[in-house]
Amino acid sequence: IRDTTAIDQATLNTILEKNRQCYKQGKVADYIPELGKANAQSIALSVVNSNGTVVSAGDIQQKFTIQSISKIIALMIAVKENGEATIFEKMGYFGTDKPFNHFGNLETMGKPLNPMMNAGAILTTALIKGKGEEPFVKILKMIRFITNNEHIEYNHAVYNSERETGHRNRGMFYIMRNNGLIDGEGEEKLNNYFKQCSIEITVEDLAKIGYFFAHHCVRYDGNKEYLDPGLSQLIQSQMLIAGMYEFSGEYARTVGLPSKSGVGGGITVSVPGKMGIAAFSPALDQHGNSLAGYRMIFDLVKARQLSIFN
Ligand code: GLN
Repeated sequence: IRDTTAIDQATLNTILEKNRQCYKQGKVADYIPELGKANAQSIALSVVNSNGTVVSAGDIQQKFTIQSISKIIALMIAVKENGEATIFEKMGYFGTDKPFNHFGNLETMGKPLNPMMNAGAILTTALIKGKGEEPFVKILKMIRFITNNEHIEYNHAVYNSERETGHRNRGMFYIMRNNGLIDGEGEEKLNNYFKQCSIEITVEDLAKIGYFFAHHCVRYDGNKEYLDPGLSQLIQSQMLIAGMYEFSGEYARTVGLPSKSGVGGGITVSVPGKMGIAAFSPALDQHGNSLAGYRMIFDLVKARQLSIFN
């Protein structure tokens, strides 16, 4: 099918080159020591157009860990298994002015703000059914399905690094357990969260994830196995209000699209009913969002008038 709104290679190349030096103003995450080894100069941009064709520029072979972007996949599975009401009884639909690793209102309201911040995400993964690492395996398999890429694995060094240093996340788990939101063995449930964050993908895999949620959970090649307009609407709404953490409000103003970032340097964007966009560059801004990634998405969205508020 001919797609007149399709993004072409030249557009992506121009936008990428314009933003190639942005990484100098950012900083690669090193609070998880293994992430600090990333090459700050890596940069990539990818689009899955409406008809499912993929166009990409830059370091498209470069793998990076999905990090917080895995939270939208975990939310999808947890809601499918438990129903939306059960999940959102235990956490809010609230936006946030707080960083991703903030305890939010765990103390005051007793529940996480939303499933996009670490607390809510750890709880979401803990609500996926299954013993031991089964919940993680479900997340991995869903990512393999959406990207149609059976080679996707998790990075063991990053996983170990998260596990060794993730004491804040551990603290959140135990407050939620104290509040009666979770039971069971903390380390087992946290390990699933640490593993899901360590799943390695490329920018094209990530653009396919954006496309999936932009298209009612239909895969870029037309596979309708998980078709569910209500679910994609829920996930995109969470991406819009909290996918970029405390920057989400300003991002809604400047980009205006459901998006999710991760501290590995990836950002995935859903253009509802149209395309999936992904950017990668590991140097982050003060909110933990990819600096060059944001700039590239901003330029592309502006050039093509893609904001949902247009
Ligand atoms: N694994 C990271 C953490 O738990 C994910 C955070 C993120 O990508 N924003 O701290």
